[in-house]
Amino acid sequence: MRTELPATFLATEDGRRANAILRSCVHCGFCNATCPTYQVTGDELDGPRGRIYLMKSMFESGEISGVVREHLDRCLTCRSCETTCPSGVRYSELLEIGRSRIEKDAPRPLAKSLMRKLLGAVLPAKGLLTVLLRLGRPLRPLFPRKFRHYLAPVSAHAPQPRTQHARKVLLLNGCVQRQLTPQVNDHLVALLNARGVTVIEVADEACCGGLNLHLGQDDAAHASMTRNIKALTPYLGEVEAIISTASGCGVTLKDYGRLYPAEGPLAAQAQAIAAKTVDAVELLAHFEFKPAVQARRIAVQTPCTLQHGQKLNGRMEVLLERCGYDLLPVAEPHLCCGSAGTYSILEPEISDQLRTRKLAALHKHQPEVIATANIGCQMHLAAGTSTPVLHWLTLLE
Ligand code: SF4
Ligand code: SF4
Repeated sequence: MRTELPATFLATEDGRRANAILRSCVHCGFCNATCPTYQVTGDELDGPRGRIYLMKSMFESGEISGVVREHLDRCLTCRSCETTCPSGVRYSELLEIGRSRIEKDAPRPLAKSLMRKLLGAVLPAKGLLTVLLRLGRPLRPLFPRKFRHYLAPVSAHAPQPRTQHARKVLLLNGCVQRQLTPQVNDHLVALLNARGVTVIEVADEACCGGLNLHLGQDDAAHASMTRNIKALTPYLGEVEAIISTASGCGVTLKDYGRLYPAEGPLAAQAQAIAAKTVDAVELLAHFEFKPAVQARRIAVQTPCTLQHGQKLNGRMEVLLERCGYDLLPVAEPHLCCGSAGTYSILEPEISDQLRTRKLAALHKHQPEVIATANIGCQMHLAAGTSTPVLHWLTLLE
């Protein structure tokens, strides 16, 4: 694709990256075939190729129209287009640059702007989130139906005693998962302890920064990353890996080497953290598991952050099959479920349509359980079905 970006923009790191990415697109349109928002609306501007054109014209003209903002806001950042693209276009990096520009230079209407600021401030703040969930749970019936699932009482769990071994890993707590489904990490600790691995958890771990990044809130994202790098770095020498059980957090940490400024004071530490981060599916692939006592029929939903972001498609399925579960075929596995971080709150219409489509595919062969690997997808899907939606880790014996 030919570009004519202004010299002032090309003089910046963002400008050079945007130019290179734009020029790598040959506008073939293959990506539209696997883009969830294009599948829902049928509008070229809701597909990756159309969004790339919109960003090109925004960068070239310096003008940010409401149309550009609307169609970029509607993107799920699912990265299905990157998996499909034959030219290796790094769409999500271009989108980061585009969203950051919009956030700085094109303020939204007040109500939308406040909602985005609120979500960007509350969800990554563990202490605040804990307090709000505690206050909100007793008032659950008063909330709109779509939010009630997030306020469900957390089932009582007894954390396993931690045992000490020569092998050590650091387990990320995550912001939202720890509040809503603490049993997932406790279960992983028990599995690893039983296999001779000590699990270290860091009390002052911060949010990975991914949520703010997707909202175009660069300063908040970098502040979270900096806090997290400072909290995790002291443990890097003693652990063989940093484990993420929420694929949405893992995909961001694995990208710290690119996301954290190369000239920043913690650049080397950011690279080291990225290099050590693995998803639980990667670590557990090296261990044996007993066959499940109750081998159920399972439909698997692989989160976009696991299949398109971390390129670990099929790994969860292999582990579950090794445990004797009967995995059912699911159509359109590449399509997003519509959760996508804060997307289900900010773009509810498309999000609901995608969930309905995803649940129809998951339900087709009457599974007893739906398995997933990310807290956002788990909550979003569970709000639309009576079939239990569980984190895949909790299905391992
Ligand atoms: S598939 Fe790749 S090269 Fe083709 S239009 Fe989409 S982003 Fe551009
Ligand atoms: S990230 Fe997902 S929603 Fe956005 S353009 Fe790519 S495929 Fe479409």
